[in-house]
Amino acid sequence: MSSHFIPNIGPAAGRTTAEAKQRLKQCGEAGLFRHAVAEEFGGLGDDFNSLCNDHELLGKQTRDPGLVLAANAHIWGAIFPLLRFGSDKQKSSLLPGLVSGELIGGHAITEPQAGSDTQAMQACAVATADGFELNGCKRYITNTPIADLLVVYAKYEGVISAFLVRHDDPGVTFSDGPTVQGCATATMGDIILSDCRIPADRLLGKAGMGSIMIHLALELERAFIFSGIAGVMQWQLDEAISFARTRQVKGAPLSDCQAISHRIAEMKLRLETVRLWVGKCADHCDRKKRIAVESAATKWYASEAFLSSSLDTVQIFGTRGLEGEHAMLVQDAMAGRLFSGSTEIQKNIIASMLGMGS
Ligand SMILES: Cc1cc2nc3c(=O)[nH]c(=O)nc-3n(C[C@H](O)[C@H](O)[C@H](O)COP(=O)(O)OP(=O)(O)OC[C@H]3O[C@@H](n4cnc5c(N)ncnc54)[C@H](O)[C@@H]3O)c2cc1C
Repeated sequence: MSSHFIPNIGPAAGRTTAEAKQRLKQCGEAGLFRHAVAEEFGGLGDDFNSLCNDHELLGKQTRDPGLVLAANAHIWGAIFPLLRFGSDKQKSSLLPGLVSGELIGGHAITEPQAGSDTQAMQACAVATADGFELNGCKRYITNTPIADLLVVYAKYEGVISAFLVRHDDPGVTFSDGPTVQGCATATMGDIILSDCRIPADRLLGKAGMGSIMIHLALELERAFIFSGIAGVMQWQLDEAISFARTRQVKGAPLSDCQAISHRIAEMKLRLETVRLWVGKCADHCDRKKRIAVESAATKWYASEAFLSSSLDTVQIFGTRGLEGEHAMLVQDAMAGRLFSGSTEIQKNIIASMLGMGS
């Protein structure tokens, strides 16, 4: 297990698109996108445990869940689907740029009328003489305003397929919004496909494989996005401990109050449990084992743990906890319950793996 990431990226100074792009590119320059990618594609040829180490460092150094989200959308939404399903030509032309951070990617599944229920998506593709024509609207797509290309899912002959859409393709707009309050340092937007024409070689994988591709991409995203957030949770814990030790109440440190020290003990347990779950997913992936239940459990547990610890941090700090960063992390944690599939969907996945439900 080794760590290559040089953590020279600090907390976000602002929330501009230019800064978001710059920070993501810095992650690429530091090698963050090369983990668990074979050397022949510009990767480090290392394992998922190394990836987790560097992602946690990134989270701790930047305490920026938006940047963590943007990096994970890029990695699991674009790099890994290309690695797994791309043609030789797609891999050789796109992977070097994506792993270096020169090109920014992501994946577009959600639509205004189709979120958790991906089968309800309305975006569609029809064959043309030399490729495909895409129509539809994707919403809440991370990295859209700064993306060079996105893996866009749309129905072709009634079945979901994946297409590589570039920001400068005719008939597509990568727009800057609507955005949400949580993870606001990540950029987000709509993709408007209006008779968008792309050549035939932009089909990713085989026609009709989109559902399984979504499934596999989200399985990885759910498993590993909280390795970065664990770094943020470590920072929260350090801050809470330091404040509780120094803040005086009735002539004694706040940490003498059991109500406070118990909150801190709970934060520690949550953090270590997140690490255990993420580590279990990494171990499974390093052994080439599937992580269907493990990734759903990790996403469910870790997103709820991050929200609970964010609320605890604000409570320990009292009203000053509402002044800035700690309060913003509560919003970020709320977003964490929704992106990559909500808590309810993770419960559904686990239940269905146990033979429950329809
Ligand atoms: C910060 C952020 C970044 C995002 N980035 C991306 C991205 O890069 N790409 C992308 O495609 N999408 C992205 N999304 C969208 C996200 O994946 C969806 O919002 C999510 O899948 C939920 O869909 P929805 O909001 O339409 O809610 P809905 O599906 O309408 O669900 C509404 C509520 O009902 C619950 N619910 C829905 N179905 C069920 C069910 N069967 N059983 C029990 N409860 C259910 C949900 O849990 C939720 O609480 C992002 C979202 C956020 C917040």
